[in-house]
Amino acid sequence: MRGSAELAETLDLLDGRGYKAYRDIEGAWQFSDFQLFVDRVQSDPFAAPSKLRVRVDVDVAALPEHARLNRVREIASASWFARAFQRAIRDVRPPRTGTGKGGLIQIDAGGPEVLERTAVVFGNSFIEARIEVGLPAAGRRALGREARKLLVEILPRIVVLAWIDRSSAVEGELRHFVDCIENQETVRSTLADRNLVAFVGDGAVLPRESGASERPMPSRHALPFDSPAAFRVEIEVPHADAGAPGRVWRGMGVPRGVVLLVGGGYHGKSTLLRALECAVVPHVPGDGRETVVTDPALVKIRAEDGRSISGVDIQGFIDNLPLLPGESQPRDTRVFSTRDASGSTSQAASIAEAIEAGATGLLLDEDTSATNLMVRDAKMQALIHSEDEPITPFVDRVRELFEVFGISTVLVTGSSGDYFGVADAIIEMKAYQPRDVTERAKKIAAAHETNAPSQTRLAFRRPLDRIPDPKSFDARRGRRESKVSSRDCDEIVYGTTKIDLRGVEQLFDPSQTRAVGAAIQLAASQLMDDGQTLSEVLDALDRFFDDEGLDGLDPFHRPERHPGAYARPRRFEIAAAINRMRTLRTTRDS
Ligand code: ADP
Ligand code: MG
Repeated sequence: MRGSAELAETLDLLDGRGYKAYRDIEGAWQFSDFQLFVDRVQSDPFAAPSKLRVRVDVDVAALPEHARLNRVREIASASWFARAFQRAIRDVRPPRTGTGKGGLIQIDAGGPEVLERTAVVFGNSFIEARIEVGLPAAGRRALGREARKLLVEILPRIVVLAWIDRSSAVEGELRHFVDCIENQETVRSTLADRNLVAFVGDGAVLPRESGASERPMPSRHALPFDSPAAFRVEIEVPHADAGAPGRVWRGMGVPRGVVLLVGGGYHGKSTLLRALECAVVPHVPGDGRETVVTDPALVKIRAEDGRSISGVDIQGFIDNLPLLPGESQPRDTRVFSTRDASGSTSQAASIAEAIEAGATGLLLDEDTSATNLMVRDAKMQALIHSEDEPITPFVDRVRELFEVFGISTVLVTGSSGDYFGVADAIIEMKAYQPRDVTERAKKIAAAHETNAPSQTRLAFRRPLDRIPDPKSFDARRGRRESKVSSRDCDEIVYGTTKIDLRGVEQLFDPSQTRAVGAAIQLAASQLMDDGQTLSEVLDALDRFFDDEGLDGLDPFHRPERHPGAYARPRRFEIAAAINRMRTLRTTRDS
């Protein structure tokens, strides 16, 4: 392997030449503390930055043994090492030089969520950072001398600061970080045995700084969470003082079944629900939500009018649609398709799709629900004959969903008492604190039971499985055989098909969205050719992630090359993206 001195020389020599001359540095370089791999040089100073990897021997990085004791700790350690690298970049502050992205060094370390990602991986004997670097230029000329400074002087300083010269204080921080994540995963793994869908630790800070920020609300404004006695549980965790003081986490256990979050406007209901949505994945210490943990198969459901629906079984909620001109039979809502869903049909479809993908629970907020899908009050029932109402409201299904299918619901409702009668637990948020009002609400429900409970037509049937047609996934764009791109968390462009993900609220990281796009492409090209159902495709993708990791997601990826920036998505978000593709065609599994 060529040495770093030779890299310095090569860079000096290409100073002033055309930008393409940077290609000369592609390949592997041996530094004193690490190896540098230049996998891909950007095509010009304004293009996506060059892709490099830094590989440090485990002995040189003095990787503590505890960091790799199990899968959870390994993912958490990788997350910490990526953050340490990012912090070192910030501390060393490589100067931006020349045009375009010159001087940029970055790593995809992620936000407050701790996710499995490609930014840092462990090999048997090394730890590797996948970074992006903007090679400096003046106009279209390579600034080789600047590049030498960047790669041969500044980058080593960053690597040493981030990964090699760790003080004992920093060592303690690493351990605390990893312990805190392992504590969260331990709590997650005990939820089902305790008949809970979620745990919210006492002292947790749920509100965020602003609607546009994932940072915690500053402590002088935020009221820390305090569990009501009726729902208080204590869960032993493996590591003391990591997330909460001591070895026992105390907080509110949200039971399986039907749970209502009620309360006056602005009392903190939606904030609690949002924390539950986010807690399907662990959070970093200091986030405020590092003791909030939910069942990983809870899916947020909302109305999303305008979305497309392909062959979804929504009969449990919508049936007997009025005839359109030319129709002699009402549309079959067991295979319902539309290019422009209403609020209620979109929400019904999202529920059916979540169940199809394997959700164990649903999270709903009245703020983002279609009222006519949620309730139909007594006066309206008196006016409109039930035969003229295609909708069976959620209130008439929510118990069945739990009792027959084991699917729990946590529902925020401040305006309708119709759910009191069907709930197992009712929690009032009052001035940002929860209290148990189950009994009082049940008494009120009993006293007001004047109208007959609205009749449920047919028993709820499990939504039919669908088989996606691989031919309906076309990734071609222009002259390219396949091109999938994404923007933030909100949009994937698959070939030329835009997938709008603004209504999918449990995608937390742009690299998850990027991974969803790549996962769809992988699935369409390799996992759908035998008539697999959508849920079988999702199983196969989960197996792929478990066995191969995320590195192989890009169809053009080669081993020992920078794989791009990916973070692991859940199956529900992959399904959500497929379900929102306007080109999607499905057949029924019979
Ligand atoms: P609701 O859904 O009950 O109408 P929200 O959850 O939207 O109420 O909360 C209203 C406001 O109160 C939000 O701006 C939120 O950030 C803030 N808030 C929520 N919980 C807390 C808390 N524990 N401490 C301080 N402010 C909070
Ligand atoms: Mg609200």
